[in-house]
Amino acid sequence: MPIRILADEVASQIAAGEVIERPASVVKELLENALDAGASKIDIRIEQAGRRLIEISDDGAGIAYDEMPLALARHATSKLQTADDLFHIRSLGFRGEALASIGSVSRATLISQVREVNLGGRIRVEGGKILTSEHTGASVGTVVRVEDLFYNVPARLKFLKTDQTERNQINNLVTRYALAYSQVRFRLVQDGKLALQTNGNNDRREILTQLYGIEIARQMLEVTLEDADSKISGFISPVGLTRSNRREMTFFVNGRWVSDPALSSAMLQAYHTLLMVGRYPLAVLFIDLAPEEVDVNVHPAKAEVRFRSPDAVFSLVQRAVKRALLAYSPTPQISTTYWQTTPSTQTHLVDPAWEMAGDLQGQDLTQFYGPDSTAENDPQAQPALPSGELPLLRPIGQVGAAYLVAEGPDGLYLIDQHAAHERVLFERLMRQREKTIPAQHLLKPVTLQLPPAAALLLSGQLAILNSLGFQVEDFGPNTFRIRAIPAILIGADPEAAVRVVVEDFEEDEMPLQTEIEERIIARVCKRVAVKAGKTLSMDEQKALVRDLENCQSPRTCPHGRPTMIHLSVDLLERQFGRRGARNLS
Ligand code: ADP
Ligand code: MG
Repeated sequence: MPIRILADEVASQIAAGEVIERPASVVKELLENALDAGASKIDIRIEQAGRRLIEISDDGAGIAYDEMPLALARHATSKLQTADDLFHIRSLGFRGEALASIGSVSRATLISQVREVNLGGRIRVEGGKILTSEHTGASVGTVVRVEDLFYNVPARLKFLKTDQTERNQINNLVTRYALAYSQVRFRLVQDGKLALQTNGNNDRREILTQLYGIEIARQMLEVTLEDADSKISGFISPVGLTRSNRREMTFFVNGRWVSDPALSSAMLQAYHTLLMVGRYPLAVLFIDLAPEEVDVNVHPAKAEVRFRSPDAVFSLVQRAVKRALLAYSPTPQISTTYWQTTPSTQTHLVDPAWEMAGDLQGQDLTQFYGPDSTAENDPQAQPALPSGELPLLRPIGQVGAAYLVAEGPDGLYLIDQHAAHERVLFERLMRQREKTIPAQHLLKPVTLQLPPAAALLLSGQLAILNSLGFQVEDFGPNTFRIRAIPAILIGADPEAAVRVVVEDFEEDEMPLQTEIEERIIARVCKRVAVKAGKTLSMDEQKALVRDLENCQSPRTCPHGRPTMIHLSVDLLERQFGRRGARNLS
């Protein structure tokens, strides 16, 4: 093929591909424009995960009618004039590409009015071509309506993830910007449902609640560090509160959400040995530096920056994080009783009858296991062991309210009571699942409120959850009502059992149906299994050991960790230096 200059339309689409990858990219660019325009109020309306509609209205400065076509042109910006300006950027935008890109891959309408003129304008663009442009009455500010995103780039459409993932991306993005710009009022509505609303009162912890839920928001530690020309503020999680992925580490540099592995690792180093392997903190850090210190022009979507003195920035982050961790003196884990007294969870108090079963896990065990009927000292009286590979064990007692000690024909067993109970519950539910898992109605339904992202996730899994013996239903925005839980979990905290299903889930995780059921069951079992720290009666210990013996895979919990440590007679003898001694005596 001969060399040719690309047609404008093609060139625009290629360029747009760099900036606009998915619906959330459109939201990001439009949000940034609204913030740059000094908006104090931003309304976002999304339909069908942004495929159908993305509409953002702001009360910012607006665009003059005769500049509107220019706003839609490539490389047209009001934020920068010379290349040198790039190094003093205080605005979020500067490339003059966003509106042009969006206009070339959608049907877009721009409505705007500036304060000085009493007449606004409306301009429509489709696939990069301006269709109409007219005067219209409008309020001061700008509305950008983006319809049928990627209608003319079917290849892009194919690369989009599920609606749920795309919606989540938008929720995450808007919530983070709301957090960064806590003086601005944000409102996000997805398919007619309110997903986020902030009141612009600068209270970041309140917004954290919408992002992570009240429980986590309260635990987050505040970070502040300020020196001559830089400032760090934000929140980090205490060492006991972690995630299995790095995604919850958010960094804003000069008001811009950036991803920077070096910043993450600076943060991790500050936690140093405090975190378990493979666990990551939750963090939202706002780093403010002199504009000259940051090169913002290194990524088309402006998602990365370069620092003039990276080491200085990283050590600043470390100092800030370490200081916050040190200032924090660990308080006891927030207990269920604590939560029951807070107003927002009042609803989860259940009938006293239920509360009596309240010493639940203990009750649980005796209730299900019943007193041990078999004569423990007479192995012949025991039925033959089913498929489990455990020998018969004789419980001897409990150590540290966490481990059971049992004797077997071949030595000593230390059993982790939590992991063991987890395994037992898991196998029971899995077995019951082959028919129908019996449900137990709560005397009073429990209301559960979740942060938007978690609520979306739960909505998507209600059917599965309800097939597992739960009865959970939609009950208003981000709110659910729990009417029943699997009978086997009676006595467990219903709210916690449902909550665990959507917590700490990888954002893009979309396991197969069977797999997801299994994982949900495993998660729920982990949450409700008897905890370390709980003293078990002898009957309860026996019951737990019996049940473990009956498990198919008694030696690991459903998450793969060991339920027990075996100290063989042989090992004991070697440890005591008695090896061979038997023959002598
Ligand atoms: P950039 O933000 O990089 O300048 P954009 O394509 O996003 O490029 O926007 C082009 C121009 O349109 C901006 O420089 C700004 O002058 C104007 N503009 C876009 N959105 C808004 C808005 N919401 N309010 C006021 N002006 C806007
Ligand atoms: Mg812009």
